[in-house]
Amino acid sequence: MPHTPSHPSHGSLTIGDSYVPTSGNGGYTVSSYDLDLDYRVANNRLAATAVITATATHELTRFSVDFCGLVATRVTIDGVAPSKLVESARKLTITPAKTIPAGQEFVVTVRYGGSPRPVRSPWGELGWEELSEGVLVASQPSGAPSWFPCNDHPSDKASFRIRIAAESSYSVLANGRLVSKVRRASRTTWTFETVEPMATYLASIQIGVYRELVLSRVPVPQTVLAPASVMARAQKDFADQEKMLALFERSFGPYPFGEYSVVVADDDLEIPVEAHGFAVFGRNHIDGLGGSERLIAHELAHSWFGNSVTATTWKDIWLHEGFACYAEWLWSEESGGPTVHRLAHQHWARLSHLPQDLTIGDPGPEKMFDDRVYKRGALTLHALRVTLGDDAFFELLSSWATENRYGNVTTEGFYLHARDRSSVDLDALFESWLFSERLPVLPR
Ligand SMILES: [Zn+2]
Repeated sequence: MPHTPSHPSHGSLTIGDSYVPTSGNGGYTVSSYDLDLDYRVANNRLAATAVITATATHELTRFSVDFCGLVATRVTIDGVAPSKLVESARKLTITPAKTIPAGQEFVVTVRYGGSPRPVRSPWGELGWEELSEGVLVASQPSGAPSWFPCNDHPSDKASFRIRIAAESSYSVLANGRLVSKVRRASRTTWTFETVEPMATYLASIQIGVYRELVLSRVPVPQTVLAPASVMARAQKDFADQEKMLALFERSFGPYPFGEYSVVVADDDLEIPVEAHGFAVFGRNHIDGLGGSERLIAHELAHSWFGNSVTATTWKDIWLHEGFACYAEWLWSEESGGPTVHRLAHQHWARLSHLPQDLTIGDPGPEKMFDDRVYKRGALTLHALRVTLGDDAFFELLSSWATENRYGNVTTEGFYLHARDRSSVDLDALFESWLFSERLPVLPR
């Protein structure tokens, strides 16, 4: 993990990812977050306690956590108040009463509260967002500190338990398995647990006046949460999701998590967003005519690429988006639409008329969500498929997803994984598709 501490015993205030220069923290890794949230939808008031279990990667006289827009009222380290605590715009900087030795596990407890609001970022407003009737959380890449203190970087995955109390008239969804739901008078407490390690940007809560519909129970429960007025259309639009999941299991290996839900917010959203174990769509994405089928496939595919197999740094985002885009094309062919081959050539032709001024393997923070990263990332996979042949290519995808399940990966790692399975030299292919600006010719 790259970090450059200002003092050998200080955890650095950033993790060293130039795409998110203020996010993440050095000096420790987190193994679990236990979040206890008491929330009032009516006036957007949050009172919460976060218990963070971490391990020092070197001796720590001081360390920081990402935290934004809320107020910490009490902090302890292993039950003891710190000797110094500084809350700045994006960080809580904590000087523990006693130096934490390298390798030691420690528990940070933060009691905090306020009116959560989105974090401003170069990619717009991220994190906790009030809806007209509820809450939506979409944090990619740096919005998680809008609702809990954390080491906000995808390279530091942890298990989560999220407990949230809200008015009983609302449905609540968080990541993982619902382990309990207790109604007391006007308030209901929901507790969710993830067993698999999760990146902070994928931690999410959805609150709304939703009905619930079970789409399928195999291989994992698949549910839709949607406003009553949208449910009939949603049921039609998500009808094929079970078949998509079966196709992706054949292509990428077993579905990595214990459940998959889709939420349709009662507001319009610019784009759907993925979370760990679910995805969120806007009501504008639901037409009852399958108009968003491509997006439904895309979000589901992120379960394998992004949510389970996660880029170590944001420059490698094509390992999420290129793969999810390729999954859209696989579904198109499977469902009787245009074939992968045809879509690849169509998108290649489109890209050939667009500026060729970014590298897919390091597009720069302002272009990390550029559609060209998505499409050319998918075309990189298609070039690999044509070069390797179908059998080797699909073995490559499923072994990549399986061997790196719940882990962190890099483009370099993917190159080595592919090279080990190829009898031909792949250097020129990776170099031209990922690290030169000019669009290469698609191999035939
Ligand atoms: Zn995506």
